[in-house]
Amino acid sequence: SKIKDMSAEVVDNNPYSRLMALQRMGVVENYERIRDYSVAIVGIGGVGSVAAEMLTRCGIGRLLLYDYDTVELANMNRLFFRPEQVGMTKTDAAVQTLSGINPDVVLESYSLNITTVKGFETFLASLKARSSDERSTGVDLVLSCVDNYEARMVVNQACNELGQTWMESGVSEDAVSGHIQLLVPGETACFACAPPLVVASGVDERTLKREGVCAASLPTTMGVVAGLLVQNALKYLLNFGQVSPYLGYNSLKDYFPAMEMRPNPQCSNPACVQRQKEYMESKPARDAAAKAK
Ligand code: ATP
Ligand code: ZN
Repeated sequence: SKIKDMSAEVVDNNPYSRLMALQRMGVVENYERIRDYSVAIVGIGGVGSVAAEMLTRCGIGRLLLYDYDTVELANMNRLFFRPEQVGMTKTDAAVQTLSGINPDVVLESYSLNITTVKGFETFLASLKARSSDERSTGVDLVLSCVDNYEARMVVNQACNELGQTWMESGVSEDAVSGHIQLLVPGETACFACAPPLVVASGVDERTLKREGVCAASLPTTMGVVAGLLVQNALKYLLNFGQVSPYLGYNSLKDYFPAMEMRPNPQCSNPACVQRQKEYMESKPARDAAAKAK
């Protein structure tokens, strides 16, 4: 029995100590700050649900989950949802699973369509709730995990209006490629600045959903894209490593094209143009701050 007691001391059963080891090893300066952060995830499907689970297991402070759909049997070729959750809203089913995994995370479930007038209002209001002032939101990052152009344009609109940094993700209709992209209003290209990407390098980014076509999906590609997305979200929030401006994933060639996109001064989105103007105007102050460092 003495030996058993000893091993109990050596084996650390606290999952957080594995994460805190990142700090001891000098990867992250202050891992515990993760508890202070709020992340909004739009689209709790093949990518968004896995991203939500990863952030939950990392001990994120608060997750806001948005989706208009219910869990279907057709979703079972992806990760996260279980057959007994069929019929539940995806956001409620996610809260059920995630609260069981980590009860410390504050979870908010929004079963709504962000492209409707009412849905958009609720979406904006939920992002702004808990904000400390007019010009800020109560969330630190928005992750877009939707599967259609219209919804992405709406996330783009909301984030441009609020000056909210967000990350976009997508998986192609043939399920073999994907991408993630960082969007900082005024600083990087917004989703309206450039048409949906068709990268010459062999990554086909047809993230537009065609009506009446049954899209393919793989848990692997979606899991990889969710992993890349959350890895970059952690780097952004906890301030370590380099956050990828754009990272593609071509699973057939195991090829990861990277690039950067400047905002388009002729962007069709007025809020984007306004954020670009503000970004240019604040350049002297930013340069001075960088020099002082
Ligand atoms: P399939 O196309 O095979 O049925 P899916 O619809 O679950 O899959 P995913 O790519 O797994 O697609 O996930 C995308 C998620 O984004 C879905 O859960 C979908 O309901 C959600 N979504 C898409 N558009 C909106 C929107 N306008 N408002 C809220 N959620 C949205
Ligand atoms: Zn733009």
